[in-house]
Parts: sequence; structure tokens; C-alpha cells
Amino acid sequence: MFYFLQDDFWEHSYLVLLFILSLILVIFLRYALVSVAYKFILERISKTRRNSWNTKRVQILREIKRSLYSSMVFTVLCAATLFIYQKGWTKIYENVNQYALWYLWGSPLLVLIAYETYYYWLHRWMHTPAVFRVVHKIHHEHREPTVFTAFSFHPLEGFLQFLFFPLVITVLPIHLYSFFAIFILLTLTAMVNHSGVEIYGKGRFRRHIIGASHHDLHHEEFTTNFGLHLTWWDSIMKTSSKRNRETLK
Ligand SMILES: [Zn+2]
Ligand SMILES: [Zn+2]
Repeated sequence: MFYFLQDDFWEHSYLVLLFILSLILVIFLRYALVSVAYKFILERISKTRRNSWNTKRVQILREIKRSLYSSMVFTVLCAATLFIYQKGWTKIYENVNQYALWYLWGSPLLVLIAYETYYYWLHRWMHTPAVFRVVHKIHHEHREPTVFTAFSFHPLEGFLQFLFFPLVITVLPIHLYSFFAIFILLTLTAMVNHSGVEIYGKGRFRRHIIGASHHDLHHEEFTTNFGLHLTWWDSIMKTSSKRNRETLK
């Protein structure tokens, strides 16, 4: 059934082409379906018109188009990841007993913490004027992002954001399913953080977690709140917005 897992798959160019085209479709539909579903959930739980089709039609259409290009970039890197996996150049494992059971969730946690560092510094670099003008400006095109902004990037930004993953699996062992789980989480948090609706509570750990109000301030102020999921790097580097506290009231 999974023809792309067969040993001689890469020798058949028409199969590779079919695989690439199907993967673009799968990655794009995953984005589109999850975004539309989240938009409808938000309309039920909040009164905001932030993600409304009626008021943001032009912006949303533009973001969907850009996300299609991002899906193409992600596809190329996914195919490269599959290639190095099949060649045995990665540390991905399939037998759950190969490492301790806690490592099944411990390894994606490690990857996410390492990615937090990668993302923060990549993001800071993308805000240097010359890079911003050419690359990151596209993501910041609208001051008020919507759930559809989550993957609206310049192709180079999409490439650099994803590049971390084929690299990290060459050095860090991770179970195949734990690896997939990371991408589900990244898709969901990207939408949550661009939706304009704060869904996280006010618990003890709240100040460590980045949500929509935190990322909204990044889109408003440009020079603060560069983190992805955790506020740690912004705290260390003193790039936290002074308004973070006020938006969590
Ligand atoms: Zn930015
Ligand atoms: Zn953003």
C-alpha cells in the first residue's frame, strides 16, 4: 500500500512525482481543514470577528495562497526526510522497546526545546532589516493575523523553519510516531497563536507558555516576543513585550 516505503521507490521517477504531488495535497489539505475547523470553533466560543471571512476575505485568500507555496516547500523537505530515513541516515526507530518507554514522549519534548532555541534565533535573524524586507515581511503583511496566517510565509522562511527537522533526526533518536506527533502539535499551536483568541487559562505555568495574546504583540510591535511556544528566550534576551502582563489580565 505504501509504495514510497519500498526499497526501489526512488528509482522510479513517475512514482516520485506522484508522491510529491500527493504530499503537497495532503500537507495543504491538513492546513486548510484544521484552519477552517479552528475558525468555526472560535466563532462558537468567542464573539471576535478577527477570523471572519466577511471582514478579512482578501487577507485570508492571500494567506491561503501563500500557505500553498509553503506546503510545496514542506513537501520537498518531507521527501528529503523520507529519503535519508530510507537510506538509514537517521536515528528514527520503529520498535517502541528500543529505548525506555518514557523516551517516547521525552524525545519529542527534547526536540521541541531544541527547536525553540533554533526558532527564536532564526526569528531574530529574520527581523534584521535586510532579511525582513525580503523574507519575513510576508508573514507580517497584516498587523492582525488570522488562523490562516500560521503558514503564510516566504518560501525561504518555510524552508529554514522546516530544515531543523531532517537535521535533528540525524543526531537524536526518536520514535517514528513521536516524530509525527511534533508536526501535529506545531500545526495546532501555529493556528492557536495566530487566531487572536487567548484560549490558555491563567494557571501557574501560564507565564511560560506562548499563546495568541503574546504572539499578537509580536505582530503589533515587531521587536518583541520572538518565541514560538515558550517565553524563556524572550525573558533571557529581554525581548519580552512590556504589555505581556496587561494582555493576560
Ligand atoms: Zn516576526
Ligand atoms: Zn506570526
